[in-house]
Amino acid sequence: MRRAVLVEPEKIVIEEVERPKPGEGEVLIRVEVCGICGSDIHMFHGTHPFVKPPIVQGHEFSGVVEEIGPGVSRIEVGKRVTVEPSLICGRCYNCLRGRYNICNELRVLGAQADGAFAEYIAVPERTVYEVPENMSFEEGALVEPLSVAVHAVERSSLEVGNNVVILGAGPIGLLITQVARVGGADRIVVTDLYERRLELAREFGADITINAKREDPVEVIHEELGRDGVDIVFEAVGVEATINQAIEMVRKGAEIVVVGVYGKSPQVKMGLIQDREIVVKGVLMYAWNYPTAIRLIGERRVDVMRLITHRYPLTELEEAYRLLDREKEKTLKVMIYPQLT
Ligand SMILES: [Zn+2]
Ligand SMILES: [Zn+2]
Repeated sequence: MRRAVLVEPEKIVIEEVERPKPGEGEVLIRVEVCGICGSDIHMFHGTHPFVKPPIVQGHEFSGVVEEIGPGVSRIEVGKRVTVEPSLICGRCYNCLRGRYNICNELRVLGAQADGAFAEYIAVPERTVYEVPENMSFEEGALVEPLSVAVHAVERSSLEVGNNVVILGAGPIGLLITQVARVGGADRIVVTDLYERRLELAREFGADITINAKREDPVEVIHEELGRDGVDIVFEAVGVEATINQAIEMVRKGAEIVVVGVYGKSPQVKMGLIQDREIVVKGVLMYAWNYPTAIRLIGERRVDVMRLITHRYPLTELEEAYRLLDREKEKTLKVMIYPQLT
């Protein structure tokens, strides 16, 4: 089978290797679609804080069960599935309390273990979720990023009627916009540097959008909603400018949910966090959020398909990364098809 290996930053090699055999408790999946995530772009450039090549990337995928290993009882050959890419110990403090996304020994497929930019992948049965008949493979692959958004909103203290701001209208920001709507947010404000993304944010339920290239988000928000207008900010960019905007725009005593991955360590206005009793909450991946995400897509309460802007075969993965770098305005979700040649 073929797989795409990131051998060093910015260099991908397509390798021909033996198809993996599912071991005890493992399921072999023929990968149909695998999305490129913002964190993959960090890995590609060698700027991801917790991942270093060589690695087979790819953690947002769906496919068909090709073979099952000994001891597998819950999943059958031929089923259409999506996979939660977390490999966990199941024994540490947080695993035992159900917060396995922050397992002490967490490894993520496509980051610390080989992922799904490959024709086949063997994964533990626990990680495999069947997708309903009315869901496409593309929707199945997008269960992963949607689960990030579901987890972020679930971990926040969002209550019906709260005003929320989402900094960054990339795929995750746009999904948080939709989930916040489902979760009962009142006013939703979204910021980004690109008009096209803001347009999509409005279609997904944002009441106010701010182009941070042209306007100061903190000023606009204080004008539109007042100093006490923002209950929760979701920071979905991961740079110094946006985390500090979040600190300055949120009402005193309110909450910032940090979703973005920080390539560089930012200078954060800690003084204001202290002085205004701001609560900063980090969120990582998801725990037990796949069933909700599958339902939201299956019931068409969240639209993931409109995030897809480009499609490439596996052999053109490197080109897909170059496109994402070059065309920030035109790209959102780029999908890779390992079975296509
Ligand atoms: Zn991802
Ligand atoms: Zn653990």
